[in-house]
Amino acid sequence: MPEFDLLVVGGGPGGYVAAIRAAQRGLSVGLVEKERPGGVCLNWGCIPTKAMLRSAEVFQTVSAAADFGVHADNVRFDFAAVRQRKDGIVKELTDGVVGLLKANGVTVIEGHARFTGPTTVEVCEVGPSPIGPDGPRYAAAPTAAIRQVSARDVIIATGSVPARLPTPGAELPGVITSDGAFGLTEVPKRIVVIGGSAVGAEWASLFATFGSEVTVVEMQERLVPLEDKDIGVALGRSFTKRGITVLTGSTVTAIAEGGPLRVTVDGPKPREIDADVVLVGVGRRPNTADLGLDAAGIGTDTRGFIPVDDRLRTGVEHVYAIGDVTGRALLAHVASHQGLTAADVIAGHRAHIDYTVIPAATFTHPEIASVGLTEEQARAAGHEVITAKFPFAALGRAKTFGDTEGFVKIVAGHKHQEVLGVHIIGPSASDLITEGALAISLEATLDELADTIHAHPTLGEIGMETALAGLGLPVHIAPRKR
Ligand SMILES: Cc1cc2nc3c(=O)[nH]c(=O)nc-3n(C[C@H](O)[C@H](O)[C@H](O)COP(=O)(O)OP(=O)(O)OC[C@H]3O[C@@H](n4cnc5c(N)ncnc54)[C@H](O)[C@@H]3O)c2cc1C
Repeated sequence: MPEFDLLVVGGGPGGYVAAIRAAQRGLSVGLVEKERPGGVCLNWGCIPTKAMLRSAEVFQTVSAAADFGVHADNVRFDFAAVRQRKDGIVKELTDGVVGLLKANGVTVIEGHARFTGPTTVEVCEVGPSPIGPDGPRYAAAPTAAIRQVSARDVIIATGSVPARLPTPGAELPGVITSDGAFGLTEVPKRIVVIGGSAVGAEWASLFATFGSEVTVVEMQERLVPLEDKDIGVALGRSFTKRGITVLTGSTVTAIAEGGPLRVTVDGPKPREIDADVVLVGVGRRPNTADLGLDAAGIGTDTRGFIPVDDRLRTGVEHVYAIGDVTGRALLAHVASHQGLTAADVIAGHRAHIDYTVIPAATFTHPEIASVGLTEEQARAAGHEVITAKFPFAALGRAKTFGDTEGFVKIVAGHKHQEVLGVHIIGPSASDLITEGALAISLEATLDELADTIHAHPTLGEIGMETALAGLGLPVHIAPRKR
């Protein structure tokens, strides 16, 4: 008899959510975690970055208090206190996850899981982590096996780790990943961020607000290259206005000692940049190191991710995979949704995952959020499209906020005016995107968005105003010339 109905390997937002759902469906559930419950999201990703970005935002707002008729003299920040606040939030949330697992009757097993067969694993002790580019991680290499565990079904939820750069000098001290950035005890005077996607852009925004001299080097033609082109261009302009040096279409070809680090950049504006810290934010790789996938007969794709079907099944019976390790939209909410679906499937419910509507947010200043197709993707998919834009500067609530930078762009079908994509850069973009997600999910049209009464004065009105613009009936901006 297997020890558990279900064993979940990895306690991130994929794994712990799957474990809770499966327990609520009546299964006996074990969860193995080698570091801290909550995974990357709670410990090294979503939450700690947002906690620190919020401190940066408060600093920025208070520094500009005079614009609001409020006087706050001698405004300064205390980076140690910023980190301490972040640590407190992380602890509260990770303790909360431990409590929830316990309350739902999930057995948590501490250690590194390694497959010995498709549904059997050995759990090993983990040794202390050396301080490297990933900073003071909690645990590292597995050591001695401490127990064998078997289950009827297994979910692999081992997530991802920062990708490494093959560039000469990438191993030098001072060259860190996003994980390593949490180990910084002071704000670097000069920092080069390699990679202008969500992770790199957020760190660049944070350190620029705290006064670092920031350079972002991005290989693609614009920042946040997965976003709609207009959004990437707007972020580049905004960063430049804030004093961030943005080098797009550029690559770092070498990092050398001197300055204390000297970064060689190749591209339209080749140069050498001296930096105190180089932060590498060039993507993620699946976390399957020493997992014993071979012993379970589980294959990976060419990039090492574990392919799954829409019920999260791997090629091996009784083995499922969810979250970043599947390589499907590396986002916490996607991991959690996959977790719920996999748990339901294992518990015998009819469930499958649909990736059509996946909102995503980047918490730079200005903030970015999007859902659905970009204009380029919509056209490439054969849609004849109309697009509409509405600026926050024309919105009363944005004026009262003192935050009018940015716009909303809607991409809609030309014939039926169904909403295909919503792209936002500006205040509260990450919250405003929910209306766009619902619109796409319900196959709403511009008419339906425009006909929905929105409260005034709110930032949310911008969805309605953009839809009106798309219909050629804008109220608070001048109509497009015909
Ligand atoms: C800086 C940064 C900011 C981010 N911000 C956001 C954001 O704002 N919004 C968002 O949606 N996403 C964000 N993400 C992405 C998000 O963190 C991930 O998509 C999410 O954590 C993936 O969840 P997961 O459960 O698949 O894996 P993970 O969170 O990576 O968790 C996997 C867990 O498995 C454990 N594990 C691995 N191998 C083993 C093993 N052999 N035995 C036992 N345990 C093991 C690990 O220790 C880890 O705890 C961010 C990521 C980063 C790096």
